[in-house]
Amino acid sequence: MPDGSNYKLFIDGTWRSGTGTADIALINPANAKPFGSVAVASAGDLDDALNAARGSATLWADTPAHERGAILVRAAGILARNIDTAATALSQEQGKTLAEAKGEFARAVETFEWNGRHAEELTAPASIDEKRTVLHEPAGIVAAFTPWNYPAVLNARKLAAALVAGCPVILKAAEETPSAGVYMAEALQEAGLPAGVVNLVFGNPAMISEHLLASPSVRVLSFTGSTPVGRRLAKHAAENLQRCVLELGGHSPVVVFADADISKAVSAISEYKFECAGQSCNAPSRILVARPVYEDFVDKLVEVAGNIKVGRPDDPATEMGPMANPRRIEAMERLIGDAVSRGAQVKTGGARIDQPGFYWAPTILTEVPSDSLILTEEPFGPVLTVAPFDTIEEAITEANASDFGLAAYVFTHSHEIQRRMARALSAGALSINYLKGVSADAPLGGLKQSGYGYEGGVEGVRSFQNLKLVNSASPIGIA
Ligand code: NAD
Repeated sequence: MPDGSNYKLFIDGTWRSGTGTADIALINPANAKPFGSVAVASAGDLDDALNAARGSATLWADTPAHERGAILVRAAGILARNIDTAATALSQEQGKTLAEAKGEFARAVETFEWNGRHAEELTAPASIDEKRTVLHEPAGIVAAFTPWNYPAVLNARKLAAALVAGCPVILKAAEETPSAGVYMAEALQEAGLPAGVVNLVFGNPAMISEHLLASPSVRVLSFTGSTPVGRRLAKHAAENLQRCVLELGGHSPVVVFADADISKAVSAISEYKFECAGQSCNAPSRILVARPVYEDFVDKLVEVAGNIKVGRPDDPATEMGPMANPRRIEAMERLIGDAVSRGAQVKTGGARIDQPGFYWAPTILTEVPSDSLILTEEPFGPVLTVAPFDTIEEAITEANASDFGLAAYVFTHSHEIQRRMARALSAGALSINYLKGVSADAPLGGLKQSGYGYEGGVEGVRSFQNLKLVNSASPIGIA
């Protein structure tokens, strides 16, 4: 178990203090008070992590796939056993409700399990014909970077896929939410993962990413976070031609057609949107509603959003907790303030809630001019804009107007419109008549400024594999 809320680095199978600068304080978003700390890695610590990963690479790559899978499945069981403590720690760091934190850990467990149980088929050679076979070999050391919004699920998606592929990982998890990575490293170690295969570091994000990517031993960069940071890391990765999987920001449209069940659409949108106080890369952020049902939709949405119980994450009655950090409060003030100054209407919310902690009222905006910052930047908070449309062509143009292309949502019973929207919307994932997030067994990747590469499913494991073509003059027996 972690030492209270003072988290260390995990390098070569050992927990240690960082030899970088002083530890970083953890702040509870529910009351803005410090409650713990996280160690800071120096360049020397990172070199030790690189050496540990290099030292374990052959052993792990040569470990039979079913044994790698068995370790992941055992780690899933250990995580599941610790879910209450791990979720409590996550909720305290991040601000999401305890129920949300437990749900997130359950998805992390499922991710370890899915990759573990499918280990053999995910790594098996694929024969093209009797003389040609493709081998799925580990790509090498992975440098993985995860953010603070969904640390359990996002750590699990990177760790499980890389490990099943046979790659060692150096994970830099977000300093604001270190515990999920700590629980995972402990579970993997207890499950029998050899020392050095997973290393967990924290510290100065820019220093760590530059140091790790400067090593040609690192072969894959896997990053989830903002578009500007992803772009910067891709430039560093270009030096050593490291493969990049970049899961970046989103600005996801929902298109509600006139035949949709408006009450169901409103409750599905609001339930998904306000989870984690709206700080999700694929949360909906812009709603386009057919004009005949626009007013009814806005009235219902405003009523639902206005009644969301915002409060302490550990109160079972709470439906939405605080935002994760003061930077998000500043972003809400800036983005909503800008929209209002250009003529947007605040239908509900629009302001910080006056109590200690980083609480923001669920906000619905209408009449938002298209050049407002909130329609061009990723909002990443509990705010939705709503606008009417008259024709399907107009809805498609508006939905695709963003530079981002991560997720999109459509509400209609018409199969013809569903098919048309599935082809027309530029997004990595489309959900129809419900809102669905990532799952362990399916690929998700962004388009445009939302990044490239895939996480989840078979494709997520392929991100960490080299495909080696073996040709032979006569039939070969590799498969
Ligand atoms: P940020 O962009 O500086 O950081 C985002 C994440 O990237 C953090 O976890 C941070 O530790 C990490 N990071 C930052 N600089 C890095 C670097 N040079 N090398 C490696 N990692 C680095 O700012 P922030 O305030 O934490 O988040 C702001 C924005 O990030 C949000 O508005 C949102 O748009 C985006 N974001 C996206 C996701 C996502 O899931 N796509 C998750 C979190 C944040």
